[in-house]
Amino acid sequence: MKLIVIGLGQCGSRIADEFARMDKRARSQRNVSICPGVFAVNTDQADLSGLVTIKPDHQHRILIGGRKTGGHGVGKINELGAEIARADADKVIDALRTTKRFYDADGFLVIAGAAGGTGSGSVSIIAQHIKERYMDKPVYALIALPFEHEEKTEERTVYNTAVCLKSISSVADAVILVENQRYVRKDFSLRYNLSKINSLIVEPFWDLLCAGEEKNSKYIGAKTMDAGDIIQTISGWTVIGHGKARVRTLTLPFDKTDHFRMKSVSNYKGIRAMDEAVSELSLKIDPRDAGRALFLISAPAKEINMDIIKEQGDWLREMAPNAIIRNGDYPREKDTMTVTVIFSELSDLERVRYYYNRSTSMMPVIKQRQADLADRRRDIDELSRDIPSLLE
Ligand code: GDP
Repeated sequence: MKLIVIGLGQCGSRIADEFARMDKRARSQRNVSICPGVFAVNTDQADLSGLVTIKPDHQHRILIGGRKTGGHGVGKINELGAEIARADADKVIDALRTTKRFYDADGFLVIAGAAGGTGSGSVSIIAQHIKERYMDKPVYALIALPFEHEEKTEERTVYNTAVCLKSISSVADAVILVENQRYVRKDFSLRYNLSKINSLIVEPFWDLLCAGEEKNSKYIGAKTMDAGDIIQTISGWTVIGHGKARVRTLTLPFDKTDHFRMKSVSNYKGIRAMDEAVSELSLKIDPRDAGRALFLISAPAKEINMDIIKEQGDWLREMAPNAIIRNGDYPREKDTMTVTVIFSELSDLERVRYYYNRSTSMMPVIKQRQADLADRRRDIDELSRDIPSLLE
C-alpha cells in the first residue's frame, strides 16, 4: 500500500519523519516504495528544521501561519492551529501535488499529537481539504494521545485531546489511535524516549505497507495483503500492534494446561507473536468491540502453512467474535515470525470516553475563565478611555 504521509505540528512531523525513514528502508532493503510523498507542516520553523529524513525544501517542510506567529508556533491554542490551517490549506494541498506518481498513492495518512496546538488544531482541517479534493482516496489519521504527566499538569491537554478526537473522527475514514504512555520506558531520557516511541509507533506499518507492493514472486504470499484488504478493514476508530517470535532459537514449553493446543512449533510461535501483538496494541481496547480486524504473518516461507493461518484466524475470532477478519501472509523475514494485527471499526473505546467525559465536565470552568479574561480586557480598555493615543 502506498500512502502520502502528512505530519502536522511537532509530534506529527516527527512521526512522519519516521515514515520517511521507513520508506527509505523499504526502497533499499525491499526495493518497494510505500510512502511516495512525506510532508511536514508546522507553524514553528525551528521544529521543521530539526527533522532528519523528510526532504529539506519548502515543498516538503511547509511553514504555515508564518505571518501570524512569526514562525514560532501557536502555543497550546488549537483553535489558532485550526484557523491558520484554514487560511493556509491551499499551500499544503499544492505541495502534496508535487509528489511524483501522485495518482499511484492508495490513500493519505495525516498525523498529529492530540494535545498540542498546531497538530491538534490543523489535522482535521487539512484532512477535510484533502477529502474534498481527492474523494476517491481514503484519508486516515494517526493520532498520538498525551502522556500521563501532561494530563496532570496542563488543563488544556484533556480539552485539546477531546476537541481533536471529535473533529478528526468526523472527517477521516479511520482514526488510528496510539497512546504515548504505553511506549514509555522509565529508564530512558525524555529525548531518547520520544525518538524510540516514534519508531515503535511506526514499526507495525512496515510489513503491512510492504506486503502488497512486492513484485518479486519469491516474496509474494499465498494470500497477499494488498491495499484493497487494508482499505476494506480500516474504518472508524482503529488500533494496531505487532509481535515477533524468533524462528530458530525458540524452545517449546510443554504446558498441557495451556489454553491453546499447539499442533506444531510453528503454530506455537505464531500464536505467541499474535499474543504479543494484541498485548502491545497502540491503545488498550476490548477486541470484542471490533467490527473488523486483520492479521498478517510475515515469516520464512517454510514456516508459513495453512495450519498456522487457520489457527491464528481461529484464535483471533475467539478474541474478536464480532469482527469480519481478513488475513495475509508475507514470506519475507529470515529468522523471525512477525504478526501484525489491526482491530478496527471499534464501537467503544474507554480512553475516548474518558477524554470526552472529563472535557465535558471541564467546559463550564473553561468558559467561565474565558468570560473572566474577556471582562478583565474590557475593564482595562475602559480605564484607558480618557488617555490620549498617539494613533489616529
Ligand atoms: P504542536 O507542535 O503544537 O502540534 O504540539 P506538539 O506536537 O509539540 O505536542 C502535542 C503532543 O504530542 C504533546 O502534548 C505530546 O503528547 C505529543 N508529542 C510531542 N512530541 C512528540 C513526539 O516526538 N512523539 C510522540 N509520540 N508524541 C509527541
